[in-house]
Amino acid sequence: MKYLPGYTLEEFRKDLENSGFEPYRADQVFNWLYKRGEEDFGAMTNLPKGLRQLLASRYTASSLSLIESIKAPDSEKFLFRTRDGQTVETVLIKERDHNTLCVSSQIGCAVGCRFCATAIDGLVRNLKTEEIVDQYLKVRKITSEDIRNVVFMGMGEPLANIKNVRKAVEILISRWGLDLSKRRVTISTSGLVSGIRKMAEDPLLREVNLAVSINSPFEEERSRLMPLMREGSLEELMEELKSFPLKPYRKITLEYVLLSGLNDTQDHAKALASLIGTSKKRFKVNLIPYNPVPDLPFARPSIKKILEFQRTLWDRGISTFVRFSKGIQTFGACGQLRASRSYAKISNQ
Ligand code: SF4
Repeated sequence: MKYLPGYTLEEFRKDLENSGFEPYRADQVFNWLYKRGEEDFGAMTNLPKGLRQLLASRYTASSLSLIESIKAPDSEKFLFRTRDGQTVETVLIKERDHNTLCVSSQIGCAVGCRFCATAIDGLVRNLKTEEIVDQYLKVRKITSEDIRNVVFMGMGEPLANIKNVRKAVEILISRWGLDLSKRRVTISTSGLVSGIRKMAEDPLLREVNLAVSINSPFEEERSRLMPLMREGSLEELMEELKSFPLKPYRKITLEYVLLSGLNDTQDHAKALASLIGTSKKRFKVNLIPYNPVPDLPFARPSIKKILEFQRTLWDRGISTFVRFSKGIQTFGACGQLRASRSYAKISNQ
């Protein structure tokens, strides 16, 4: 079986042409799949019967099946099974005026962040393009929600699976695909310098938002927290980010998981401000108070500590937001970012 959400329109047009159908039929099929959410080829009534039969015998629109979903007041987590029996997590975060889907790009993760439950079993495999796109299609179908924002912030390091992630982004933002705004798609990386360079050189990938996990402004400590992140020093990473081709009014987000007694001191806040240096307009900082994971020895700092950290950055002119995690009892794992919502901001006025 071939998986339809793994195809670009051009690829699918060629496929149909090779089977003796006119290429515009591919546009019709994609319209059913992406605009109307129809997975059943038999229900695609404007297609000739022969094409419907061919589609049903050779293709499927579905690469994931739902195992369970867990609801919290502001979010819902979905656990899917892949065709080879692996599990994938996706989280729908409900904001006041929009929804954001947090998708996974790998099963497990090789980066090995000490505070992350996804890291415990290491990397199992990359997700295929269709498995990434299908997370969106399935959640939209199950919830009937309008989902206009997608963040690659679930399980895995998206830039370590850049080929499949790139194609998924193309399907997410193309008019023939899910037609999301480029400004509403975010790739969140642990800081793979070579991957960020590839993004910078790629006309499609440099159009979407970039978020980078910093977690400590000190090289050694960062290496301890993210032990398998051996590619590029913090200095090289910041240099790459400072030269990343940004569109006007866009910023790179620096993600910072706050761990009590570890990386939440004033020295850390000041050193983080120094790393940003004079490039304040280029960055914004998201502080993410740690979401405790059973069996991992980390805790969330007090509100006072979190706000002091934020204040130090604001006082130095750096836009800094706190993303308080809701649904703490429902979501645990590398859900540091996935389960987060609710932006709180204090002004430096
Ligand atoms: S926090 Fe993200 S990058 Fe780090 S181990 Fe977990 S999934 Fe990988």
